[in-house]
Amino acid sequence: MLEFKNVVKKYSENGKPAVSNMNLNIEKGEFVVFIGPSGCGKTTTMKMVNRLQEPSEGQIFVNGENVLNQDPVKLRRSIGYVIQQIGLIPHMTVGENISLVGSLLKWDKKRRDDRAKELIKIVDLPESFLHRYPHELSGGQQQRIGVLRALAVDPPLILMDEPFGALDPITRDTLQEEFKKLQKEMNKTIVFVTHDMDEAIKLADKIVIMNQGEIVQVGTPDDILRNPANEFVEDFIGKDRLLQSRPDVTKVEQIMNANPITVTEQTTIKDAIQKMREARVDSVLVVDDAYRLKGFVDIEMIDASFKKKTYIYEAMEREVYSVKKESLLRDTMRRMLRRGSKYVPVITEEEVLVGIVTRATLADMVYDTIWGEGNGLEVNEIEAVESVH
Ligand code: ADP
Ligand code: MG
Repeated sequence: MLEFKNVVKKYSENGKPAVSNMNLNIEKGEFVVFIGPSGCGKTTTMKMVNRLQEPSEGQIFVNGENVLNQDPVKLRRSIGYVIQQIGLIPHMTVGENISLVGSLLKWDKKRRDDRAKELIKIVDLPESFLHRYPHELSGGQQQRIGVLRALAVDPPLILMDEPFGALDPITRDTLQEEFKKLQKEMNKTIVFVTHDMDEAIKLADKIVIMNQGEIVQVGTPDDILRNPANEFVEDFIGKDRLLQSRPDVTKVEQIMNANPITVTEQTTIKDAIQKMREARVDSVLVVDDAYRLKGFVDIEMIDASFKKKTYIYEAMEREVYSVKKESLLRDTMRRMLRRGSKYVPVITEEEVLVGIVTRATLADMVYDTIWGEGNGLEVNEIEAVESVH
């Protein structure tokens, strides 16, 4: 889908090249993250793809076509580009900003408006935002719009240069999650630049580590954490992460209990109590016939309503915090600790219940860490888990 062949970029004749002899192949649908210290050539690499810079030597192919043989303006309109400085146009409404490339491609107004409405929905912002101006939005909201603008004409390839770098950690975390989900649904090829290893590990199918204009290592997050190519990579990853790499790459589904105790809304409270007693649990999840998660009920709620109510649907709580099965264990754990949850249900994209992570599951992992074979969590996290027991 995207191929670099012996690509060199020199900004000056006799200085060290910004990018030297880069060879890399990126497949369709891959999420590739470039990472490396400041000045190592990441931005230059991206800019050569959409011809904001020209390579001094070598070739770059997008879908088998040499970018140097394409009209730069057309090329740029066919590739999504998101940068840190958002770059929304201040005197245009959010809707007009999203539709910018559509207008350039001469889409008619209805098509542009329909597309903008469709897009704003996927980031959970109200349609009324389309009529606002960028300065009326928060930083996180503006950055969401920047991402939507890049998606607007549905380009197969999207370049993102430190797009979330200026956001606070919580907004960044949310946007990373949203974006990873989006990318999976849309099957886009993404080339993403960051200098934040946590971000790379979280998002990447493949990480490309660069130093001084050269690729030092290419691999999955797991490959790189387990087998860093050299000392530079080790230092860059950080010794902490090497020792404790597991929760960075372990997904919730790998450690969850796959047999949560469930009832349906039509179960009687009496039967539910029986079930809870047998399983020795003080809370059960409520699912529908398709096993979709609908809520939960715990023993205090049942106790409060036992005399007046007969069925679970009368007593249950419908607001239930859950995580997707692909979530990273580390993030899930942090969230559970932050919220003080006793457990968290694990669901699929379709909200089907597939498991549960409990404090006991976490405690088992922590003990494995201390006495078992390196399922490592950080010490402060171990303390946090223990303090809630
Ligand atoms: P990164 O994005 O990894 O921080 P860049 O690609 O921006 O790195 O920069 C790589 C090298 O090229 C740096 O040494 C930088 O100073 C130099 N460089 C970047 N852009 C230009 C430019 N327009 N003119 C001259 N040198 C540049
Ligand atoms: Mg840069």
